[in-house]
Amino acid sequence: MQDRPMVYQDNAPAIETPSARLRRELSRFARLHLVHAPTPLEPMDRLSEELKGPRLWIKRDDCTGLATGGNKTRKLEYLLGEALTEEADTLITTGAIQSNHARQTAAAAVRARMSCVLILQDRVPIHDAQYQFGGNVLLDHLLDATIRRYPDGTNVPVEMERIADELRGQGKRPCIIPGGGSSRVGSRGYVECAVELAEQASAHGFTPDAVVVGAGSAGTQAGLVVGLAGLGLGTQVLGISISPDRARLEGLVAQMAGETMADLGLGPLDPRQVEVESGYVGPGYGLPSDEMIEAVGLAARLEALLLDPVYTGKAMAGLIGALRTGRFDGMQNVIFIHTGGSVTLSSYRATFAVPGDQP
Ligand SMILES: *Cc1c(COP(=O)(O)O)cnc(C)c1O
Repeated sequence: MQDRPMVYQDNAPAIETPSARLRRELSRFARLHLVHAPTPLEPMDRLSEELKGPRLWIKRDDCTGLATGGNKTRKLEYLLGEALTEEADTLITTGAIQSNHARQTAAAAVRARMSCVLILQDRVPIHDAQYQFGGNVLLDHLLDATIRRYPDGTNVPVEMERIADELRGQGKRPCIIPGGGSSRVGSRGYVECAVELAEQASAHGFTPDAVVVGAGSAGTQAGLVVGLAGLGLGTQVLGISISPDRARLEGLVAQMAGETMADLGLGPLDPRQVEVESGYVGPGYGLPSDEMIEAVGLAARLEALLLDPVYTGKAMAGLIGALRTGRFDGMQNVIFIHTGGSVTLSSYRATFAVPGDQP
């Protein structure tokens, strides 16, 4: 018997996978290539054995590649895409003194042949030289950013507008990047990360039951929520907050996720997909907690992973707490997003009590 001839129909509706659709939607937006993607997805088997429960994985977004990397680089690809479209020549952004976002923005400005002005706010009551001048501040300086320091409580959005006006008066074309790079534009970078990690998980033969991520200005969690919802995998996203106001942060994530979804032609957002835990802040933003010190130590001793004192150390404390309280019972695979920041470890020298050190 002969095979029947194949019939090709050019006008047949294409069957597009959810991840192909998300990638196609994302490809409509301007973007500057900065990220070394895909960042690795690796098992944390020693930590999984120690903590019992589901198998734990880590998505290495500390390895995004831009001047020591971190999560802001994914957002900056899209934010810089817009800045370049507007023909900006100077970026203005803000953060705490040891801001990872400020440092990645300074680096992105270099790559885009732009200048960069950083509004660094003295939000954390640590005033030794390591904190004020080391870590990210040293890198900001090397990356040629103009550093302007302000006391806590400054009205930063107003100050950024004032500096933008000043620059326009000098014939420059400034572009204000919001704190943390969080906006409907920046969040797109984490929609992409969600697609990337789901494909990697699938290659390892699993669907993630939950993703745990540190949450500050909300854009990272918002993008992950949108991406994972768009993939329809039923993966839970748990944001571990670095500030105590949980309701405010959940509101921010929901708003940004809703806007990001609309831009991608998706939606509407199911509000149950936005979940923030604020029980791991400790004494305050940027201040050490015992749980953070335990988490940073465990990750280093068991996995050779360098977390950071401000975000990922507290987020890992949140993951450990969730496992200990049974929140992830019955789950098989949980992914922790390493969002970077280990550059600040040496700015917290006193916190980690090296024998013989007299800070
Ligand atoms: C900024 C930052 C976060 C939080 O990301 P948001 O998008 O601001 O919520 C987490 N980890 C590190 C290391 C960061 O620098």
